[in-house]
Amino acid sequence: MNYYSTNKKAPHADLSKAVVKGLAEDRGLYMPERIKALPKEFFDNIDQLSFQDIACRVAEAFFGEDVNAEALRKIVCDTLSFDCPVVRVEENIYSLELFHGPTLAFKDVGARFMARLLGYFIKDRKDGQTINVLVATSGDTGSAVANGFLGVEGIHVYVLYPKGKVSHIQESQFTTLGRNITAIEVDGVFDDCQRLVKSAFMDEELNRHMKLTSANSINVARFLPQAFYYFNAYARMKALGLADQLVMCVPSGNFGNICSALFGHTMGLPIKRFIAANNSNDVFYQYLQTGQYNPKPSVQTLANAMDVGDPSNFARILDLYDYSHERIIQLISGCTYNDSQISETMRQCYADNGYILDPHGACGYRALKEGLHDDEIGVFCETAHPAKFKETVEQIIGTEVAIPERLAAFMRGQKQSIPLSKEFDDFKQFLMAEP
Ligand SMILES: *Cc1c(COP(=O)(O)O)cnc(C)c1O
Repeated sequence: MNYYSTNKKAPHADLSKAVVKGLAEDRGLYMPERIKALPKEFFDNIDQLSFQDIACRVAEAFFGEDVNAEALRKIVCDTLSFDCPVVRVEENIYSLELFHGPTLAFKDVGARFMARLLGYFIKDRKDGQTINVLVATSGDTGSAVANGFLGVEGIHVYVLYPKGKVSHIQESQFTTLGRNITAIEVDGVFDDCQRLVKSAFMDEELNRHMKLTSANSINVARFLPQAFYYFNAYARMKALGLADQLVMCVPSGNFGNICSALFGHTMGLPIKRFIAANNSNDVFYQYLQTGQYNPKPSVQTLANAMDVGDPSNFARILDLYDYSHERIIQLISGCTYNDSQISETMRQCYADNGYILDPHGACGYRALKEGLHDDEIGVFCETAHPAKFKETVEQIIGTEVAIPERLAAFMRGQKQSIPLSKEFDDFKQFLMAEP
């Protein structure tokens, strides 16, 4: 299968090139030339299948032409070493818990898959040159990618994160690993980190010096596998007899997660409609209302992994629906919540249901609470474990949040990071001095 760029000005790429390059030459995002629909009988019997089996069918539709079947099955099964269960929160509202992986957020799925697929593609290379993964993070991407790639031979990871803008717990998950992981603390905001990464890919001299690739949610090997858990969520809801009028609600920042759900829908997954839940960073919400897309600088919120002012994957959504605002608003609605609404929702949900939301999931839960019609059942993504935002969550709900042992282990580690300004020249100079 070949991949084209959303900007339509770059040559088409095969999967290996799309994964290694991440971003197309024209700065567009890669899109598969075809999205294969899965047959009706697959959906009819999906509730009989395991998560792994469902994921293998979906993976085969995406990657089956380019990856040997046995290797693909192994990549999928290694990736999904943990479950993504659907849990009842209250009548008609269910939580798709995506935080049972090693770094307690949904990004583990895409990051683990990408590390293994990249490993598959480079294992037979002859040049022996290290591949350098550059990743900008507003919190959770960095830890998921760093842990997904930790110890993978032939790959070095550079994590760029905004100084002082990620929680201590998040920071410990990518600054304490050492080995093939380098953390870079940028004196700026997330959008600066993202810009530095994008500029690095465009810099010819740097690309001659070292082989660079991206692991942000723009990479097809990261965002497509996220579709696995939407198919599984549908299957588990179907088993409960609750899948007929399903609404999927996704707390969104860079829009990679919801984009993979929309790909699932295009493949035939019977979700009735989608809701993109935003914090105060509301460019997508405004686009839905007005048809105008006006990126703006991100603002800091309690749900900091969604603090994105110019979501990259918006280009994919436009492309998927032929730039039709009409088609987009028929399928997707939006909502936006400020910090006090997020806090209020976390308190309310805990008081009513005893369910502890993290600030991101809170946006999703609230969107269903406000937007669900009587005949619909809603599933929202609980995108991270509340313990990742321990102080914030405890302060809001007034109860202690237990830290899972795999998180506690990170916090005992020693922080190592390299401070840099937000100027590209500084970043480039640093990389040029790397082996
Ligand atoms: C990354 C992240 C999001 C946003 O996901 P996108 O794919 O960027 O839209 C939401 N919640 C958490 C906890 C995240 O880490």
